Amino acid sequence: MKRRELRPCDGCGKGLMHDNCIVFYHARVAQFVGDLRAIERAMGMEMLMHGNVALAEFMGPDDDLARKIVEHDSMLCLECATTKTVAELIEKLNDSDPAQETDLLPPIIPDSPQ
Ligand SMILES: [Zn+2]
Repeated sequence: MKRRELRPCDGCGKGLMHDNCIVFYHARVAQFVGDLRAIERAMGMEMLMHGNVALAEFMGPDDDLARKIVEHDSMLCLECATTKTVAELIEKLNDSDPAQETDLLPPIIPDSPQ
């Protein structure tokens, strides 16, 4: 990794190798939300296929069951990588870069039956 690729830790803002610790992490973190309508359709197809998931995927629409809300490319020092949760990290990165969040949130509550 080149010098120009290094940046401060996304967890604490310190250098990646602060406190003379030479181990650090580069990770892609993303937050997803389940699409309940797609999950219900997939479950219904699986029931129709008597629990055969492979056949249900083949016969059904094979929709995405979750949608990505946000994704970050993250650099972390060893201390932050081992002490912070992924949810904490994503919230911090969202706060520092709100442009990463999309305006298009997937439906969380399925439409009521008609
Ligand atoms: Zn850190």
